[in-house]
Amino acid sequence: MRATAATPRRVVRRIEVCGTVQGVGYRPFVYRLGRELGLDGWVRNDGGLVVVEATGPADAMRRLSARLHTDAPPQARVDQVRIGVPAGDSPAPGSGFHVARSAEPPRRSARDRPGLVPPDLATCDACLAELFDPHDRRHRYPFVNCTDCGPRATIVDGLPYDRARTTMRRFAMCRACAAEYGTPTDRRFHAEPIACPACGPTLTWQPSGGQDGHDAGKHREEALRAAVALVRDGGIVAVKGIGGYQLVCDATDEAAVARLRARKHRPAKPFAVMVADLAAAARLAPVAPAEAALLASVPRPVVLLTAHPDHPLAAAVAPGTDLLGLFLPAAPLHHLLLHDLARPLVVTSGNIADEPIAIDDADAADRLAGVADGFLSHDREIRVRYDDSVARVVAGRPSVLRRARGYAPDPLDLPVAATEPLLAVGAQLKHTFTLARGAVAIVGPHTGDLQQQDTMTSFTEHLAHLSRITGIEPAVVVHDLHPGYLSTQYATTIPAPRRIGVQHHHAHVASCAAEHGITGRYLGVAYDGLGLGDDGTLWGGEVLLADLRSYRRLARFGRAPLPGGAAAVRRPARMALGYLFGGEPFDETSLARAELLAAPLLRRLPPSEVATVRRMVAAGVNCPTASSAGRLFDAVAALLGVRDDAGYEGEAAVALEACAAGHAGAAPLPWRLATRDDLVVYDPAPTLLTLLEALHDGTGAGLLAAAFHATIAAMTVAVCSDAAAEHGTSTVCLSGGVMQNRLLVEALVAGLSAAGLTALVNERVPANDGGISYGQAAVAAAQLRGG
Ligand SMILES: [Zn+2]
Ligand SMILES: [Zn+2]
Repeated sequence: MRATAATPRRVVRRIEVCGTVQGVGYRPFVYRLGRELGLDGWVRNDGGLVVVEATGPADAMRRLSARLHTDAPPQARVDQVRIGVPAGDSPAPGSGFHVARSAEPPRRSARDRPGLVPPDLATCDACLAELFDPHDRRHRYPFVNCTDCGPRATIVDGLPYDRARTTMRRFAMCRACAAEYGTPTDRRFHAEPIACPACGPTLTWQPSGGQDGHDAGKHREEALRAAVALVRDGGIVAVKGIGGYQLVCDATDEAAVARLRARKHRPAKPFAVMVADLAAAARLAPVAPAEAALLASVPRPVVLLTAHPDHPLAAAVAPGTDLLGLFLPAAPLHHLLLHDLARPLVVTSGNIADEPIAIDDADAADRLAGVADGFLSHDREIRVRYDDSVARVVAGRPSVLRRARGYAPDPLDLPVAATEPLLAVGAQLKHTFTLARGAVAIVGPHTGDLQQQDTMTSFTEHLAHLSRITGIEPAVVVHDLHPGYLSTQYATTIPAPRRIGVQHHHAHVASCAAEHGITGRYLGVAYDGLGLGDDGTLWGGEVLLADLRSYRRLARFGRAPLPGGAAAVRRPARMALGYLFGGEPFDETSLARAELLAAPLLRRLPPSEVATVRRMVAAGVNCPTASSAGRLFDAVAALLGVRDDAGYEGEAAVALEACAAGHAGAAPLPWRLATRDDLVVYDPAPTLLTLLEALHDGTGAGLLAAAFHATIAAMTVAVCSDAAAEHGTSTVCLSGGVMQNRLLVEALVAGLSAAGLTALVNERVPANDGGISYGQAAVAAAQLRGG
């Protein structure tokens, strides 16, 4: 049937748009589209969806459905556009096109795709221009935002995304804001957190211990001035940021940074530094184009860069590493601070040691009283805690190391859709969880190390919040095999019809495979700290033949005792003794020779410690063994005299990587592969012996550190090449905490590519344990599908 030009056929349609379509300017976009195409009808939020009911010429309706996909706003993610006919009254021809009130209550059914909230969006250029325009009514207003930018995930209570369901509900819009909000051509049309100095949140200043708010400033410029003056004088200011309180001080002031370390009980871990713009970043570190793009990307992560050797920052900012974590302002308040102070600032989580960051004003005032000299706060409530994210460019691609503000809870795809809604509870350190329904996985933000009650509480609060927003009620709970992880223990306490345990390193490599949509077989290289294997021993240097459902272990690192168990993680020197006194499969002769060559280390350590460790290893008391790549990196750092202690897991390996800088092209040291119980075993004895001999003969630690990296890469490429030939697969997924080492990963990617293999690395979820929950979800979904 063909309609003539004179009487175009009219059709009526109900269109449901699924994905990240709320809080990203999607309704205003549909509104403008509907008007442009001359349609009659409306658009509204309904549950987690955007729903359109419209009538118009068939041709215009076709263009509407196509452009809902192709012309969507930049921050939207359209997963699906479902087209049907309205169940009730259809819009009347000639009634025009408008934005309707959100459906109350939401009509979302359980079958629907999960409701999605966008992550927080960094201040856009248009808002930034207003912020610094003296003639604009929002000049220097720290809460300026629009449909393209501003807080989202951190202020949302529930869906549909309307002001009434955000922490902005207590601020009644002034007449001017209401006009912008209601004007379809305005860039603040339906910008839910819209605010201005007349009606929106206000900055406040409270000096620490200031009696009766003595010099507390109520006016926002007074508050800012007080904070700026304090930072300029070397003070530490607690600033209420987007996803929590942050501690801020002058990054060029050695005494201020040292004071912050002491008060925060954070002796070693590098601090992130915020700079005003890319030019300021380039003054501290060379910034490659891919790194500049990552710094300026909407999530505004902390980006790890290799510092200029003579950068002007205080040495205490990042001791023992040439890496600097730099980031650009994500919120107007940070833009103002950077502008007024005109210097790089340490901006770090508002907490002490490993506690969750403070988000509540009273809690912050209480917990940070001994840390901050003053509080720059405001009255816009933070609904949920989001720490700053960390990322890095590896092998030319951005790679997330800590996924929180700006990234979470943006959904990821599962390559095999889950047949039942599931919750993956993750691991223990750098904890995240993942909720999944169908092919959509929502990875919650980084909550820190799950070691104490308050991090557990933070995890369960986030879980309840995201579960409510997405409407995902898990029928399957997925956990690590380690019974000691608090996440595993939690998994056993929540009622669920089905539980699935996933081996730690299988979850690691599956996280990488799933990100890249790999559903077939692949080789998984999991180089990690420690994780429980399926044989009851600790693993961490594994090559697996895997698919999403299952795996077979093909190769592993030689085992070494961990003298004192977990204590060895914080004491690389002790780990080195473990290899020297009881590394497998060292033979007697090489052990004796290695011990002789390691005399500098043995002389450096307290004799009582050496004797104790020797006894422990000989008797096998409190010495679990592990086939861990991470622990071998620790041991080498100690043997080379780079680091005997680690303030945090991986510190020694970070120092070892830094030490190797400037020795590109170092030749690999010898290595040996043995076969034990049908497994290929990397025997590090020849590597360590040669390394110690060269050190003894005066070769520099830097060259040897580089040679060690080259050895691990060359050995891994050899193992993978053989396995690829034998098992007929050419895809290699690299994951695990050790894969945060850029030097190693880039050598692996180059070596594997040269060998004709395809090397894949984590990009959107961390290679470290922060990616475990997503890997668990991918494995469980595939297992559910397999029955
Ligand atoms: Zn904006
Ligand atoms: Zn206003």
